[in-house]
Amino acid sequence: MPAIDNTYRTHYTNQIESGLLGQRATIAGWIEDLRDIGKVVFLTVRDVRGVAQAVVSGQSIEIIRDKQRQSAVIISGLVQDSKSKDFSLEIKADRVIILNDATHPLPIDPTGRVESALDKRIDSRALDLRSPKTASIFLLRSVLLENIRTTLRSNGFIEVNTPKIIGSASEGGANLFEFEYFKKPAYLAQSPQVYKEQLILALDRVFEIASYYRAEKSHTARHLSEFLSVDIEAAFTSMNEIINIAEQVLMNILSLNLSTSEGDMNGSKTLLIPKPRFPLKRLSYQQCVEDLKKQGENIEIGDDLSDASLRVLGEIHKGFFFIVDWPTKLKPFYIREKENDPRFSYSFDLQYGHLELISGGQRQHDPNRLKERLIEQNLNPDNFKHHLRVFSWGMPPHSGWGLGFDRLIMALTNLDNIREAVLYPRDVDRLTP
Ligand code: ATP
Ligand code: MG
Repeated sequence: MPAIDNTYRTHYTNQIESGLLGQRATIAGWIEDLRDIGKVVFLTVRDVRGVAQAVVSGQSIEIIRDKQRQSAVIISGLVQDSKSKDFSLEIKADRVIILNDATHPLPIDPTGRVESALDKRIDSRALDLRSPKTASIFLLRSVLLENIRTTLRSNGFIEVNTPKIIGSASEGGANLFEFEYFKKPAYLAQSPQVYKEQLILALDRVFEIASYYRAEKSHTARHLSEFLSVDIEAAFTSMNEIINIAEQVLMNILSLNLSTSEGDMNGSKTLLIPKPRFPLKRLSYQQCVEDLKKQGENIEIGDDLSDASLRVLGEIHKGFFFIVDWPTKLKPFYIREKENDPRFSYSFDLQYGHLELISGGQRQHDPNRLKERLIEQNLNPDNFKHHLRVFSWGMPPHSGWGLGFDRLIMALTNLDNIREAVLYPRDVDRLTP
């Protein structure tokens, strides 16, 4: 491993390997443990990629002896064999610099020896991230976002950025955040829906990865007020084609060899769930209702699938599966109904057990029908005039979906609470840090 061109370190801790025996190395990180046995002090130093041991003796002992765990340090010395049971190599330190002390008591213990509740961990997120288990979730997010971008780019999608401050409710509904914008009412975008539909008029295939805002008043483990969404929209496509793209995104993610990705994944390679068999099951909504009835659920065709119903379905169909052809009235105004039976629509959700990960479908591209649908859903077409006018500029048939990225991370890492998958979650009760 080549040395790093850096003022403070020559190596990350995971680069202290046998090839360095007898050579000098400088590591920089935080004191994880300190064992003072008189003439020598054993020190473990953690950085984002791992942990290394150093042995301090001689004059440097006085610098380190009374220092607190989690203080920022630089350690230099020769790499030698170690007799310790946890390390095969160690640095025989001849230079020790304390850059900044950690003041104790610390709010949480990032080594995880003393467990803290999630709320306390989020209150001190920057420190919580020194735990390799926590950090691995966010390294995974970074690797997956890069992979998703690659998959979409290789399918001809262009990445776009649409506004998050908007003048009218993009999809209607009660869960919009409203605020004052130069004395006029404005909203935080709940999705890029109208913009991505407009952009395919010229750009053909677009995707956006951005945060969206919903005033979700419920306290569930899967809803946040601010969440990251991967959205795609493609002209001249039907529902099945964009379902195939969702499968490809998922397949590429699940084929990643995380141990070879950049840096040390800090153990997150063990977090990924087993690879499902592709193509995934595509169950019709009606089939799901029949299944639920057989399980004794009180449900009729046309009813929404409640959380309880989805939990029952998730027990029958473990892992990933699609629910397709939902009742039109349960889906937003822009979803296209089936020509042969308008009670149902070209719409789908991707589930991971009971957890909804994606919603999508083919869109209504007929402007007159779209206007009718707005009225049916008690939305005012006037509020959508900037959107409706583009439909008379040669709007092609088109389809798309939105993937809740934080929920995907939850599913892949078996987390029970979406807040664990987000650095600084926002919900009814939390606006800080
Ligand atoms: P749900 O029924 O779970 O509330 P939804 O159907 O209202 O979700 P959509 O409008 O279909 O959500 O949004 C597309 C995707 O965005 C969802 O499948 C989900 O993965 C994600 N998502 C939606 N709302 C939230 C939220 N409040 N927090 C986190 N992710 C969300
Ligand atoms: Mg949905």
